[in-house]
Amino acid sequence: MMSMKKPLTSFLKILISLSTLLILVSCSKGDFYLKGKTKINLEVHTDYVDPGYYIKDNQSVLIDGFVDSDTLGTYTLTYTTTLKDKVVSLERVVNVVDTTAPVITLNGSEENLVCLSKNYLEEGFSALDNYDGDLSSSIIVSPIKNGFMYKVSDQSGNLTELTRGFSIEDTQSPTLDLIGSESIKIQKDSQYIEYGALAEDNCGDVSSKIIITNNIQTSVLGTYTVTYSVSDENDNTTTKTREVIVTDEAQAIVYLTFDDGPSSLTLDVLDVLETYKVKATFFVWTKKPEFEPIMLEAYQKGHTIALHTASHNYNVIYASTTNYFNDLYSVQSWVKEVTGSTSMIFRFPGGSSNTSSDFNPGIMTKVTTLATQKGFHYFDWNVSSGDGSNDTTTEKIIYNVTRNIKSTRINVVLMHDSKNHQATLDALPEILNYLQSIGALVLPITMETPEIHHAVNN
Ligand SMILES: [Zn+2]
Repeated sequence: MMSMKKPLTSFLKILISLSTLLILVSCSKGDFYLKGKTKINLEVHTDYVDPGYYIKDNQSVLIDGFVDSDTLGTYTLTYTTTLKDKVVSLERVVNVVDTTAPVITLNGSEENLVCLSKNYLEEGFSALDNYDGDLSSSIIVSPIKNGFMYKVSDQSGNLTELTRGFSIEDTQSPTLDLIGSESIKIQKDSQYIEYGALAEDNCGDVSSKIIITNNIQTSVLGTYTVTYSVSDENDNTTTKTREVIVTDEAQAIVYLTFDDGPSSLTLDVLDVLETYKVKATFFVWTKKPEFEPIMLEAYQKGHTIALHTASHNYNVIYASTTNYFNDLYSVQSWVKEVTGSTSMIFRFPGGSSNTSSDFNPGIMTKVTTLATQKGFHYFDWNVSSGDGSNDTTTEKIIYNVTRNIKSTRINVVLMHDSKNHQATLDALPEILNYLQSIGALVLPITMETPEIHHAVNN
């Protein structure tokens, strides 16, 4: 390739001088002739080297004309001498030509793997010519089969063509992730709930293309397979399966309960519950107005908002039955204000078995009896996550809950969603994985839920 800028190197110009003294010689054929061709094509920007001439006896020859090898054109060189008193002239024609085509440069790749559904966004192109310089704006782009053609010509008609190809030979299969466990148990004659799956292809989310098939007969005991299959636009297919065991073993019924919220942590708790598509029960403590939208969100998502306390101050609430119910009605009206719903479900601070109320002998016996008479349902717990203790850890919470869930009873799990219970939040996915794996039925507490009571100790 030739460099673009080259100084004028072959400028040859010799003028005839009329006063030059000529030497006369005898002339014969072949006494004066040009060496080389009389018509020369010279590539532009190439030094012109004259092939010379023959003259008998080294007589003087005047050469008139010039060749500018940096400028396209036709140049005539005239070689003049005098033979036997006659002026003799010979001519050589030099054509400075450009036969070098422009060079097209594509930004990005000349070969591209593309998604059928997506348009190619031009990454840019440029053209440089040895004579014309920048021809980028003269490039003509036209679509061809599976790509684009880029064409440009210089002023001498030298054409350059370049293609950018698009390959749709996408051989990458989508990823496929099941939501929930790969093996679940369901009760005979219960409804199988499909949690679905997520799929992503190199061209985007293809979850909507997942085809789910199963042969589950919940009326027949056995192990069934749910098949999830997804194909991208180029028929790369990914398939996964989920095992569903229809069992007549007793099924654990589990109520997850969270005390002392709502707090900033509650939103994260709601996210985890949503991922596992389960509903829980929140025993709320009257808090700052800033948490009211969180409580409302929980309510709107189908979780149960139940009552805990307005003050959480044992010395006040257990000082008298009046004090206790004033506190309970206070939190009840707060929940009504926010959710529009009057809750009749509550949990005693410390549980109905608490002995923190010992300073007022018999108070728990009185308030538990009165509460029932007033139509309230109160819930203690029979599975403690232990997340209220000072040395709690995520691992301990998982252990405490999973060890104590029993398939032979209703399980009410005590946890907390006040803001210092990150460990509880972190334990929640594992707990829910476990509950899924044993086919537990996770439900929110309602007025129909059998009440779980501790023995009253005061
Ligand atoms: Zn509490």
